[in-house]
Amino acid sequence: MSEKMLKFVKINKQMPTKRASNVRTEDFKEIYNKFMNDKAKEQSSRCSQCGVPFCQIHCPLNNNIPDWLKLTAEGRLREANELVHSTNNMPEICGSICPQDRLCEGNCVIERAGHGTVTIGSVEKYITDTAWAKGWIKPIKVLREIDQSIGIIGAGPAGLACAEELRKSGYKVTIYDRYDRPGGLLIYGIPNFKLEKFSIERRTNLLKKSGIKFKQNFEVGKNISLGDLRKKHDAILIATGVYKAREVDLPGSNLKNIFSAMEFLTASNRKGLGDKVKSFDNGTLNAEKKDIVIIGGGDTGMDCVRTAIRQNAKSVKCLYRRDRDNMPGSAREVYNAEEEGVEFNWLSNPKKFIGKSEVSSILVERMKLHKADSSGRKKPEPIPNSEFEVKADMVIKALGFNPENLPKLFSSPDLSISKWGTIKINLKNMETNLPGVFAAGDIVRGASLVVWAIRDGRDVTISIKKYLEQKLKKDEKVA
Ligand SMILES: Cc1cc2nc3c(=O)[nH]c(=O)nc-3n(C[C@H](O)[C@H](O)[C@H](O)COP(=O)(O)OP(=O)(O)OC[C@H]3O[C@@H](n4cnc5c(N)ncnc54)[C@H](O)[C@@H]3O)c2cc1C
Ligand code: SF4
Repeated sequence: MSEKMLKFVKINKQMPTKRASNVRTEDFKEIYNKFMNDKAKEQSSRCSQCGVPFCQIHCPLNNNIPDWLKLTAEGRLREANELVHSTNNMPEICGSICPQDRLCEGNCVIERAGHGTVTIGSVEKYITDTAWAKGWIKPIKVLREIDQSIGIIGAGPAGLACAEELRKSGYKVTIYDRYDRPGGLLIYGIPNFKLEKFSIERRTNLLKKSGIKFKQNFEVGKNISLGDLRKKHDAILIATGVYKAREVDLPGSNLKNIFSAMEFLTASNRKGLGDKVKSFDNGTLNAEKKDIVIIGGGDTGMDCVRTAIRQNAKSVKCLYRRDRDNMPGSAREVYNAEEEGVEFNWLSNPKKFIGKSEVSSILVERMKLHKADSSGRKKPEPIPNSEFEVKADMVIKALGFNPENLPKLFSSPDLSISKWGTIKINLKNMETNLPGVFAAGDIVRGASLVVWAIRDGRDVTISIKKYLEQKLKKDEKVA
């Protein structure tokens, strides 16, 4: 065992410093400062090098965390970078936005022993940021081109990870995406203060330089049917994510100035990217000087409240029907939001939107929680006669997402879907019921996490490659 490790008893846990809340809410830049070299080394040296590393088991990519922490502690960053990239296509992105408290860090043994977790995500980001700065990350050099092509629908993390892995093997890859920029929710969903956009552009530019073709502003279902796309390629991956906002059906739902989270976040992200956004520029989707109410306690809700604060809202309130302990969002994000001035109304549920043509307030009822059900979550129930009114110039609904009706959208009624509308796959090989058509990411799992989308993108590559090898053999026999 290296003398450089097991320092958790002497060295305390330290995250990269956070910018002061009154400073960081003035802009949309990331809230954490970068780790300095010595700090990253020092924090890595706290790892106890467990024989059975629970951090690795609980990382969806099974990242070899103890080994790259050891390499970092020893100052062997080039090797650490190679190891980090051997299991992850976007380590700096995961290092920034994985809910580590529920994944790797939440299962760190020294955290459980009361010493405070190793700051795994920050070290992962540090290693990869250093690699970018030193020019160690290079486009793929294909050694042997293979004359088979794959069409990937969706340039989110699942589609991008699969494209990169297939290209490494020499396949021809084209990604089709209905947005004007690649990245999926990384670009238009997740705000800059969690993930600065240059890091996504840097990744997608690398893929372009690696020979992967991107067709933006190209919607499968509108510009081409799935059937016709299948004729153009040897295999297809559907990685379209989930975008249909869940609705609240309440009196007053049709009043003006009630928006979905994605409408609000996309407008804000586009402004940050320098686009002209009419609905923002004319004030409709701008929270400035308004009383804003966000409904929902998940990570999307947290992104909305913190975006509204940065747009200089007069007040920002979050309504959530359960309590703090039972909310789905990351505890760290709630804490950040509170620091930035967001007011949380726990155990509160909207009952009615009030206003003439535009919303002006919400009638809210108080809730109480029952014992946990079989899913482990406590069911909320309204408290009679507990209503109160909350002023609102703009309401943002962040209640989650459902899949769009893909069989209809793709003019492919034979594509099998589950009762939730997600695409049904054979769990052994991630193939849909249509031969040579595979699916991965949120469109299979339902709304999930970037790290799981990357995992799916990597897993599906193995099956696509097997399918293409068999197809090639069959085609050769016929010829
Ligand atoms: C506001 C918000 C914040 C989030 N924050 C986090 C976070 O902090 N950490 C985390 O791990 N996860 C977070 N997530 C979840 C994460 O972003 C998703 O789980 C992940 O992006 C899913 O990846 P994907 O590739 O499956 O789909 P997506 O990222 O949704 O990408 C799908 C792509 O498919 C394209 N597409 C869709 N239909 C078509 C079509 N018909 N034709 C062509 N292209 C099409 C879309 O334009 C899009 O680019 C957040 C999600 C949201 C909404
Ligand atoms: S990918 Fe996410 S879960 Fe895995 S080590 Fe990195 S931050 Fe932790």
